[in-house]
Amino acid sequence: QDLLGRIDRMDGQLNSFITVTAEQALSAADHADQQRANGQAGPLTGVPLAIKDIFCTQGVKTSCGSKMLDNFIAPYDATVVSKLRAAGTVSLGKTNMDEFAMGSSNENSFYGPVKNPWDLTAVPGGSSGGSAAAVAAGLVPAALGTDTGGSIRQPAAFCGITGLKPTYGRVSRYGMVAYASSLDQGGPMARSAADCGLLLNAIAGHDARDSTSVARVVPDYTEELDAPLAGLKIGLPREYFGDGLDPSVESAIRDAIKVFESLGASVREVSLPHTSYAIPAYYVIAPAEASSNLSRYDGVRFGHRCDNPSDLIDLYKRSRAEGFGDEVKRRILIGTHTLSEGFFDAYYKKAQQVRRLIRQDFLDAFEEVDVLMGPAAPTPAFDLGATKDPVSMYLQDIYTIAINLAGIPGISVPAGFSGKRPVGLQILGTHFAEARLLNVAHQFQ
Ligand code: GLN
Repeated sequence: QDLLGRIDRMDGQLNSFITVTAEQALSAADHADQQRANGQAGPLTGVPLAIKDIFCTQGVKTSCGSKMLDNFIAPYDATVVSKLRAAGTVSLGKTNMDEFAMGSSNENSFYGPVKNPWDLTAVPGGSSGGSAAAVAAGLVPAALGTDTGGSIRQPAAFCGITGLKPTYGRVSRYGMVAYASSLDQGGPMARSAADCGLLLNAIAGHDARDSTSVARVVPDYTEELDAPLAGLKIGLPREYFGDGLDPSVESAIRDAIKVFESLGASVREVSLPHTSYAIPAYYVIAPAEASSNLSRYDGVRFGHRCDNPSDLIDLYKRSRAEGFGDEVKRRILIGTHTLSEGFFDAYYKKAQQVRRLIRQDFLDAFEEVDVLMGPAAPTPAFDLGATKDPVSMYLQDIYTIAINLAGIPGISVPAGFSGKRPVGLQILGTHFAEARLLNVAHQFQ
Protein backbone atom coordinates (compact mmCIF):
# COMPACT_ATOMS: atom_id res chain seq x y z
CA GLN A 1 0.00 0.00 0.00
CA ASP A 2 2.88 2.28 0.80
CA LEU A 3 4.44 1.77 -2.62
CA LEU A 4 1.11 2.05 -4.44
CA GLY A 5 0.72 5.45 -2.75
CA ARG A 6 4.21 6.41 -3.83
CA ILE A 7 3.43 5.41 -7.42
CA ASP A 8 0.26 7.49 -7.24
CA ARG A 9 2.16 10.54 -6.04
CA MET A 10 5.23 10.30 -8.23
CA ASP A 11 4.48 8.43 -11.42
CA GLY A 12 2.36 11.15 -13.00
CA GLN A 13 5.68 12.88 -13.48
CA LEU A 14 7.98 9.90 -14.17
CA ASN A 15 5.62 7.84 -16.39
CA SER A 16 7.47 4.64 -15.50
CA PHE A 17 4.33 2.44 -15.39
CA ILE A 18 1.99 1.64 -18.27
CA THR A 19 -0.36 -0.37 -16.05
CA VAL A 20 -0.62 -0.44 -12.25
CA THR A 21 -2.34 -3.58 -10.97
CA ALA A 22 -3.26 -2.35 -7.50
CA GLU A 23 -6.07 -4.81 -6.80
CA GLN A 24 -4.12 -7.89 -7.86
CA ALA A 25 -1.13 -6.61 -5.88
CA LEU A 26 -3.09 -6.23 -2.66
CA SER A 27 -4.54 -9.72 -2.96
CA ALA A 28 -1.10 -11.19 -3.75
CA ALA A 29 0.22 -9.36 -0.68
CA ASP A 30 -2.54 -10.92 1.47
CA HIS A 31 -1.59 -14.31 0.10
CA ALA A 32 2.06 -13.64 0.98
CA ASP A 33 0.99 -12.71 4.53
CA GLN A 34 -0.77 -16.04 4.83
CA GLN A 35 2.27 -17.90 3.57
CA ARG A 36 4.40 -16.09 6.12
CA ALA A 37 1.90 -16.92 8.88
CA ASN A 38 2.04 -20.57 7.81
CA GLY A 39 5.82 -20.58 8.02
CA GLN A 40 6.12 -21.03 4.23
CA ALA A 41 7.91 -17.78 3.43
CA GLY A 42 10.90 -17.83 1.10
CA PRO A 43 13.40 -15.02 0.55
CA LEU A 44 11.12 -13.26 -1.97
CA THR A 45 7.76 -13.80 -0.27
CA GLY A 46 5.84 -10.53 -0.26
CA VAL A 47 8.53 -8.59 -2.12
CA PRO A 48 6.93 -5.99 -4.41
CA LEU A 49 8.27 -5.62 -7.92
CA ALA A 50 7.40 -4.45 -11.41
CA ILE A 51 7.47 -6.23 -14.75
CA LYS A 52 8.51 -4.75 -18.07
CA ASP A 53 5.47 -4.63 -20.32
CA ILE A 54 7.11 -7.07 -22.73
CA PHE A 55 6.28 -10.07 -20.49
CA CYS A 56 2.89 -11.67 -20.92
CA THR A 57 0.77 -11.43 -17.76
CA GLN A 58 -2.48 -13.36 -17.72
CA GLY A 59 -5.52 -11.09 -17.67
CA VAL A 60 -3.40 -7.92 -17.73
CA LYS A 61 -2.60 -5.69 -20.70
CA THR A 62 0.76 -6.55 -22.27
CA SER A 63 1.42 -3.67 -24.67
CA CYS A 64 5.15 -3.96 -25.38
CA GLY A 65 5.07 -0.16 -25.51
CA SER A 66 3.11 -0.28 -28.77
CA LYS A 67 -0.22 0.95 -30.05
CA MET A 68 -0.29 -2.41 -31.86
CA LEU A 69 -0.78 -4.23 -28.55
CA ASP A 70 -2.61 -1.50 -26.64
CA ASN A 71 -5.73 -3.70 -26.59
CA PHE A 72 -3.90 -6.99 -25.95
CA ILE A 73 -4.77 -8.79 -22.72
CA ALA A 74 -2.37 -11.69 -22.45
CA PRO A 75 -4.14 -15.04 -22.08
CA TYR A 76 -1.22 -16.63 -20.21
CA ASP A 77 1.80 -15.82 -18.05
CA ALA A 78 5.40 -15.75 -19.27
CA THR A 79 7.47 -18.42 -17.54
CA VAL A 80 9.43 -15.84 -15.54
CA VAL A 81 6.19 -14.21 -14.42
CA SER A 82 4.79 -17.49 -13.13
CA LYS A 83 8.11 -18.30 -11.47
CA LEU A 84 8.16 -14.96 -9.68
CA ARG A 85 4.59 -15.45 -8.56
CA ALA A 86 5.41 -18.93 -7.27
CA ALA A 87 8.30 -17.36 -5.31
CA GLY A 88 5.73 -15.16 -3.55
CA THR A 89 6.58 -11.80 -5.12
CA VAL A 90 3.89 -9.14 -5.51
CA SER A 91 3.77 -7.44 -8.89
CA LEU A 92 2.61 -3.82 -8.74
CA GLY A 93 2.30 -3.53 -12.51
CA LYS A 94 3.84 -3.28 -15.94
CA THR A 95 6.56 -0.81 -16.80
CA ASN A 96 7.03 1.54 -19.73
CA MET A 97 9.49 0.71 -22.51
CA ASP A 98 10.53 1.58 -26.03
CA GLU A 99 8.09 0.11 -28.53
CA PHE A 100 8.91 -3.59 -29.03
CA ALA A 101 12.15 -2.92 -27.06
CA MET A 102 13.63 -0.92 -29.93
CA GLY A 103 15.48 2.05 -28.54
CA SER A 104 18.00 3.38 -26.05
CA SER A 105 16.09 6.24 -24.43
CA ASN A 106 12.49 5.10 -23.86
CA GLU A 107 11.39 7.88 -26.21
CA ASN A 108 9.98 5.34 -28.70
CA SER A 109 7.11 4.34 -26.40
CA PHE A 110 3.50 4.75 -27.55
CA TYR A 111 2.83 5.77 -23.92
CA GLY A 112 5.26 8.67 -23.95
CA PRO A 113 8.78 9.03 -22.60
CA VAL A 114 9.89 8.14 -19.09
CA LYS A 115 11.85 10.69 -17.06
CA ASN A 116 15.07 9.98 -15.26
CA PRO A 117 14.40 10.32 -11.50
CA TRP A 118 17.87 11.83 -10.93
CA ASP A 119 17.26 14.64 -13.40
CA LEU A 120 13.82 15.08 -14.93
CA THR A 121 15.27 16.66 -18.08
CA ALA A 122 17.23 13.45 -18.88
CA VAL A 123 16.16 10.16 -20.45
CA PRO A 124 16.19 7.04 -18.24
CA GLY A 125 17.80 4.96 -21.01
CA GLY A 126 16.07 2.18 -22.86
CA SER A 127 14.46 0.04 -23.73
CA SER A 128 13.78 -1.01 -20.09
CA GLY A 129 13.55 2.66 -19.05
CA GLY A 130 10.36 2.27 -17.02
CA SER A 131 11.80 -0.58 -14.94
CA ALA A 132 15.02 1.36 -14.30
CA ALA A 133 13.24 4.59 -13.35
CA ALA A 134 10.75 2.78 -11.09
CA VAL A 135 13.58 1.13 -9.14
CA ALA A 136 15.66 4.32 -9.00
CA ALA A 137 12.70 6.34 -7.70
CA GLY A 138 11.98 3.77 -4.99
CA LEU A 139 8.59 2.86 -6.47
CA VAL A 140 9.63 -0.81 -6.33
CA PRO A 141 12.76 -2.46 -4.95
CA ALA A 142 13.26 -4.55 -8.09
CA ALA A 143 11.96 -5.06 -11.61
CA LEU A 144 12.24 -7.35 -14.58
CA GLY A 145 13.82 -6.09 -17.77
CA THR A 146 14.98 -7.54 -21.07
CA ASP A 147 18.22 -6.97 -22.91
CA THR A 148 18.65 -7.56 -26.65
CA GLY A 149 21.48 -5.09 -27.14
CA GLY A 150 21.84 -3.34 -23.78
CA SER A 151 18.28 -2.67 -22.63
CA ILE A 152 18.90 -3.81 -19.06
CA ARG A 153 22.45 -2.51 -18.60
CA GLN A 154 22.22 0.92 -20.22
CA PRO A 155 19.06 2.09 -18.39
CA ALA A 156 20.49 0.62 -15.16
CA ALA A 157 23.60 2.76 -15.76
CA PHE A 158 21.58 5.90 -16.56
CA CYS A 159 19.38 5.48 -13.47
CA GLY A 160 22.08 4.48 -10.99
CA ILE A 161 20.83 0.94 -10.28
CA THR A 162 22.17 -2.58 -10.83
CA GLY A 163 21.04 -4.59 -13.88
CA LEU A 164 22.12 -8.04 -15.01
CA LYS A 165 21.79 -9.51 -18.50
CA PRO A 166 22.20 -13.25 -18.02
CA THR A 167 23.86 -15.65 -20.46
CA TYR A 168 21.65 -16.32 -23.50
CA GLY A 169 19.52 -19.33 -22.57
CA ARG A 170 19.84 -18.95 -18.79
CA VAL A 171 16.35 -17.43 -18.44
CA SER A 172 13.29 -18.64 -20.36
CA ARG A 173 11.97 -16.42 -23.15
CA TYR A 174 8.57 -18.12 -23.16
CA GLY A 175 5.90 -15.44 -23.01
CA MET A 176 8.38 -12.61 -23.60
CA VAL A 177 7.29 -10.72 -26.72
CA ALA A 178 9.99 -11.53 -29.29
CA TYR A 179 12.18 -8.78 -30.71
CA ALA A 180 15.38 -10.50 -31.93
CA SER A 181 15.08 -14.08 -30.75
CA SER A 182 18.77 -15.01 -30.90
CA LEU A 183 19.70 -12.00 -28.73
CA ASP A 184 16.76 -11.44 -26.33
CA GLN A 185 17.28 -12.28 -22.68
CA GLY A 186 15.29 -11.33 -19.58
CA GLY A 187 16.96 -10.40 -16.33
CA PRO A 188 16.79 -8.58 -13.00
CA MET A 189 17.11 -4.85 -12.29
CA ALA A 190 17.42 -3.85 -8.62
CA ARG A 191 19.28 -1.64 -6.21
CA SER A 192 22.10 -4.10 -5.56
CA ALA A 193 23.84 -7.15 -6.95
CA ALA A 194 22.62 -9.12 -3.93
CA ASP A 195 19.00 -8.33 -4.85
CA CYS A 196 19.67 -9.22 -8.49
CA GLY A 197 21.03 -12.57 -7.28
CA LEU A 198 17.85 -13.30 -5.34
CA LEU A 199 15.76 -12.53 -8.38
CA LEU A 200 17.94 -14.57 -10.71
CA ASN A 201 17.59 -17.53 -8.34
CA ALA A 202 13.84 -17.35 -8.94
CA ILE A 203 13.81 -16.87 -12.73
CA ALA A 204 16.78 -18.88 -14.08
CA GLY A 205 16.56 -22.42 -15.37
CA HIS A 206 15.51 -24.69 -18.17
CA ASP A 207 12.02 -24.38 -19.60
CA ALA A 208 10.60 -27.07 -21.87
CA ARG A 209 8.62 -24.28 -23.59
CA ASP A 210 11.74 -22.40 -24.72
CA SER A 211 13.93 -24.63 -26.87
CA THR A 212 16.91 -22.28 -26.48
CA SER A 213 16.79 -22.30 -22.69
CA VAL A 214 19.71 -24.27 -21.30
CA ALA A 215 19.39 -27.40 -19.17
CA ARG A 216 22.08 -26.60 -16.68
CA VAL A 217 21.95 -26.62 -12.89
CA VAL A 218 20.95 -23.28 -11.37
CA PRO A 219 23.37 -22.49 -8.54
CA ASP A 220 22.39 -20.32 -5.57
CA TYR A 221 23.44 -16.94 -6.97
CA THR A 222 23.76 -15.45 -3.48
CA GLU A 223 26.23 -18.04 -2.22
CA GLU A 224 29.43 -16.58 -3.66
CA LEU A 225 28.58 -12.91 -3.07
CA ASP A 226 31.09 -12.61 -0.24
CA ALA A 227 34.01 -14.42 -1.86
CA PRO A 228 37.14 -12.24 -1.65
CA LEU A 229 38.49 -10.73 -4.87
CA ALA A 230 42.20 -11.18 -4.13
CA GLY A 231 43.84 -12.61 -7.25
CA LEU A 232 40.94 -11.66 -9.56
CA LYS A 233 42.24 -10.91 -13.06
CA ILE A 234 40.47 -7.93 -14.64
CA GLY A 235 40.84 -7.08 -18.32
CA LEU A 236 40.18 -3.61 -19.70
CA PRO A 237 39.28 -3.84 -23.39
CA ARG A 238 41.34 -1.20 -25.15
CA GLU A 239 38.47 -0.61 -27.60
CA TYR A 240 36.12 0.38 -24.73
CA PHE A 241 38.24 3.37 -23.71
CA GLY A 242 38.70 5.08 -27.07
CA ASP A 243 37.18 7.93 -29.02
CA GLY A 244 33.64 8.86 -28.15
CA LEU A 245 33.92 8.01 -24.46
CA ASP A 246 32.83 10.97 -22.35
CA PRO A 247 35.75 12.04 -20.08
CA SER A 248 33.55 12.24 -16.97
CA VAL A 249 32.38 8.66 -17.59
CA GLU A 250 35.94 7.50 -18.16
CA SER A 251 37.18 9.04 -14.93
CA ALA A 252 34.35 7.44 -12.89
CA ILE A 253 35.20 4.05 -14.45
CA ARG A 254 38.95 4.45 -13.81
CA ASP A 255 38.19 5.35 -10.15
CA ALA A 256 36.04 2.23 -9.84
CA ILE A 257 38.84 0.08 -11.22
CA LYS A 258 41.20 1.46 -8.55
CA VAL A 259 38.77 0.18 -5.92
CA PHE A 260 39.12 -3.34 -7.36
CA GLU A 261 42.91 -3.02 -7.28
CA SER A 262 42.69 -2.06 -3.61
CA LEU A 263 40.65 -5.27 -3.08
CA GLY A 264 43.54 -7.34 -4.45
CA ALA A 265 42.58 -7.67 -8.12
CA SER A 266 45.12 -7.23 -10.90
CA VAL A 267 44.31 -5.18 -13.98
CA ARG A 268 45.64 -5.47 -17.50
CA GLU A 269 44.69 -4.23 -20.93
CA VAL A 270 43.18 -6.69 -23.42
CA SER A 271 41.91 -6.33 -26.95
CA LEU A 272 38.57 -7.22 -28.54
CA PRO A 273 39.66 -6.58 -32.12
CA HIS A 274 36.28 -6.92 -33.84
CA THR A 275 34.51 -4.39 -31.59
CA SER A 276 33.99 -1.82 -34.35
CA TYR A 277 31.91 -4.34 -36.32
CA ALA A 278 29.46 -4.99 -33.50
CA ILE A 279 27.04 -2.14 -34.24
CA PRO A 280 26.79 -2.87 -37.98
CA ALA A 281 26.40 -6.63 -37.35
CA TYR A 282 23.78 -6.08 -34.67
CA TYR A 283 21.80 -3.60 -36.76
CA VAL A 284 21.58 -6.20 -39.52
CA ILE A 285 20.77 -9.23 -37.34
CA ALA A 286 18.34 -7.57 -34.91
CA PRO A 287 16.13 -5.91 -37.58
CA ALA A 288 16.19 -9.12 -39.67
CA GLU A 289 14.89 -11.19 -36.77
CA ALA A 290 12.50 -8.39 -35.78
CA SER A 291 10.98 -8.17 -39.25
CA SER A 292 10.27 -11.88 -39.11
CA ASN A 293 8.93 -11.84 -35.52
CA LEU A 294 6.73 -8.81 -36.15
CA SER A 295 5.05 -10.36 -39.19
CA ARG A 296 2.59 -11.99 -36.76
CA TYR A 297 0.90 -8.61 -36.16
CA ASP A 298 -1.45 -8.75 -39.09
CA GLY A 299 -4.60 -7.21 -37.63
CA VAL A 300 -6.22 -10.65 -37.62
CA ARG A 301 -4.81 -12.59 -34.69
CA PHE A 302 -3.40 -10.00 -32.29
CA GLY A 303 -3.73 -6.38 -31.44
CA HIS A 304 -4.73 -3.37 -33.47
CA ARG A 305 -7.14 -3.77 -36.39
CA CYS A 306 -7.98 -0.90 -38.73
CA ASP A 307 -11.59 0.21 -39.23
CA ASN A 308 -13.62 -0.96 -42.25
CA PRO A 309 -10.98 -2.82 -44.28
CA SER A 310 -11.93 -3.15 -47.94
CA ASP A 311 -10.19 -6.54 -48.29
CA LEU A 312 -7.56 -8.69 -46.57
CA ILE A 313 -4.55 -6.83 -48.01
CA ASP A 314 -6.03 -3.50 -46.95
CA LEU A 315 -6.56 -4.96 -43.46
CA TYR A 316 -2.91 -6.00 -43.22
CA LYS A 317 -1.57 -2.77 -44.60
CA ARG A 318 -3.60 -0.30 -42.60
CA SER A 319 -3.50 -2.28 -39.34
CA ARG A 320 0.31 -2.36 -39.51
CA ALA A 321 0.64 1.23 -40.74
CA GLU A 322 -1.52 2.48 -37.86
CA GLY A 323 -0.26 0.12 -35.17
CA PHE A 324 3.52 0.45 -35.48
CA GLY A 325 5.58 3.53 -34.69
CA ASP A 326 8.34 5.00 -36.86
CA GLU A 327 11.33 3.18 -35.35
CA VAL A 328 9.59 -0.18 -35.57
CA LYS A 329 8.70 0.47 -39.20
CA ARG A 330 12.30 1.47 -39.93
CA ARG A 331 13.56 -1.84 -38.51
CA ILE A 332 10.98 -3.87 -40.41
CA LEU A 333 12.08 -2.17 -43.63
CA ILE A 334 15.77 -2.80 -42.94
CA GLY A 335 15.11 -6.38 -41.90
CA THR A 336 12.95 -7.36 -44.86
CA HIS A 337 15.50 -5.76 -47.19
CA THR A 338 18.51 -7.58 -45.76
CA LEU A 339 16.66 -10.91 -45.75
CA SER A 340 15.44 -10.58 -49.32
CA GLU A 341 16.77 -12.76 -52.08
CA GLY A 342 19.97 -11.36 -53.51
CA PHE A 343 20.87 -9.46 -50.33
CA PHE A 344 20.83 -12.29 -47.83
CA ASP A 345 24.44 -13.40 -48.41
CA ALA A 346 25.77 -9.86 -48.47
CA TYR A 347 24.10 -8.76 -45.22
CA TYR A 348 22.56 -11.37 -42.95
CA LYS A 349 25.03 -14.16 -43.64
CA LYS A 350 27.98 -11.77 -43.41
CA ALA A 351 26.68 -10.35 -40.13
CA GLN A 352 26.37 -13.87 -38.70
CA GLN A 353 30.00 -14.55 -39.68
CA VAL A 354 31.10 -11.32 -37.99
CA ARG A 355 29.08 -12.37 -34.97
CA ARG A 356 31.14 -15.54 -34.62
CA LEU A 357 34.37 -13.49 -34.69
CA ILE A 358 33.02 -11.16 -32.01
CA ARG A 359 32.17 -14.14 -29.82
CA GLN A 360 35.66 -15.53 -30.35
CA ASP A 361 37.19 -12.19 -29.24
CA PHE A 362 35.51 -12.63 -25.86
CA LEU A 363 36.44 -16.31 -25.53
CA ASP A 364 40.08 -15.42 -26.26
CA ALA A 365 40.01 -12.61 -23.68
CA PHE A 366 38.57 -14.94 -21.04
CA GLU A 367 41.55 -17.28 -21.56
CA GLU A 368 43.64 -14.47 -20.05
CA VAL A 369 41.38 -12.73 -17.51
CA ASP A 370 38.41 -13.60 -15.28
CA VAL A 371 36.25 -10.58 -16.03
CA LEU A 372 36.26 -7.58 -18.32
CA MET A 373 35.37 -4.09 -17.15
CA GLY A 374 34.46 -0.88 -18.89
CA PRO A 375 31.69 1.69 -19.19
CA ALA A 376 28.11 0.54 -19.83
CA ALA A 377 27.47 3.52 -22.09
CA PRO A 378 29.68 6.16 -23.69
CA THR A 379 27.88 9.09 -22.03
CA PRO A 380 25.76 9.71 -18.96
CA ALA A 381 21.98 9.98 -19.52
CA PHE A 382 21.39 12.46 -22.32
CA ASP A 383 18.70 15.15 -22.49
CA LEU A 384 15.13 14.18 -23.38
CA GLY A 385 14.43 15.05 -26.99
CA ALA A 386 18.10 15.66 -27.80
CA THR A 387 18.92 12.63 -29.97
CA LYS A 388 16.85 12.90 -33.11
CA ASP A 389 18.75 10.86 -35.67
CA PRO A 390 18.50 7.08 -35.40
CA VAL A 391 22.17 6.37 -36.08
CA SER A 392 23.41 8.46 -33.16
CA MET A 393 20.92 6.59 -30.99
CA TYR A 394 22.32 3.26 -32.28
CA LEU A 395 25.84 4.43 -31.35
CA GLN A 396 24.72 4.55 -27.69
CA ASP A 397 24.88 0.76 -27.77
CA ILE A 398 28.58 0.58 -28.60
CA TYR A 399 29.63 -1.11 -25.33
CA THR A 400 26.59 -3.31 -24.82
CA ILE A 401 25.55 -5.02 -28.04
CA ALA A 402 28.65 -7.15 -28.65
CA ILE A 403 27.78 -8.94 -25.39
CA ASN A 404 24.42 -10.06 -26.80
CA LEU A 405 26.02 -11.11 -30.08
CA ALA A 406 28.42 -13.29 -28.04
CA GLY A 407 25.70 -14.56 -25.68
CA ILE A 408 27.76 -13.82 -22.56
CA PRO A 409 26.46 -12.26 -19.32
CA GLY A 410 27.02 -8.64 -18.28
CA ILE A 411 26.09 -6.47 -15.33
CA SER A 412 25.98 -2.71 -14.87
CA VAL A 413 26.65 -1.37 -11.37
CA PRO A 414 26.48 2.23 -10.14
CA ALA A 415 29.92 3.86 -10.21
CA GLY A 416 29.51 7.48 -9.27
CA PHE A 417 28.11 10.46 -11.10
CA SER A 418 28.74 12.90 -13.87
CA GLY A 419 27.13 15.99 -12.34
CA LYS A 420 23.61 14.92 -11.32
CA ARG A 421 23.58 11.94 -13.65
CA PRO A 422 24.75 8.43 -12.67
CA VAL A 423 27.51 6.44 -14.39
CA GLY A 424 27.45 2.64 -14.74
CA LEU A 425 30.41 0.28 -14.63
CA GLN A 426 29.91 -2.74 -16.86
CA ILE A 427 31.39 -6.08 -15.77
CA LEU A 428 31.46 -8.97 -18.26
CA GLY A 429 32.14 -12.66 -17.76
CA THR A 430 32.24 -15.79 -19.83
CA HIS A 431 29.11 -17.88 -20.50
CA PHE A 432 27.28 -18.83 -17.26
CA ALA A 433 29.58 -16.71 -15.06
CA GLU A 434 26.62 -14.88 -13.45
CA ALA A 435 27.62 -15.91 -9.91
CA ARG A 436 31.09 -14.47 -10.51
CA LEU A 437 29.71 -11.19 -11.88
CA LEU A 438 27.36 -10.81 -8.91
CA ASN A 439 30.25 -11.54 -6.53
CA VAL A 440 32.49 -8.93 -8.17
CA ALA A 441 29.68 -6.36 -8.23
CA HIS A 442 28.72 -7.08 -4.62
CA GLN A 443 32.27 -6.56 -3.38
CA PHE A 444 32.27 -3.17 -5.08
CA GLN A 445 28.98 -2.21 -3.46
N1 GLN B 1 19.13 -0.10 -28.24
C1 GLN B 1 19.14 -1.40 -28.83
C2 GLN B 1 18.06 -1.48 -29.89
O1 GLN B 1 17.38 -0.53 -30.07
C3 GLN B 1 18.95 -2.46 -27.79
C4 GLN B 1 17.57 -2.57 -27.29
C5 GLN B 1 17.37 -3.76 -26.42
O2 GLN B 1 18.31 -4.27 -25.81
N2 GLN B 1 16.13 -4.26 -26.40
O3 GLN B 1 17.91 -2.45 -30.54
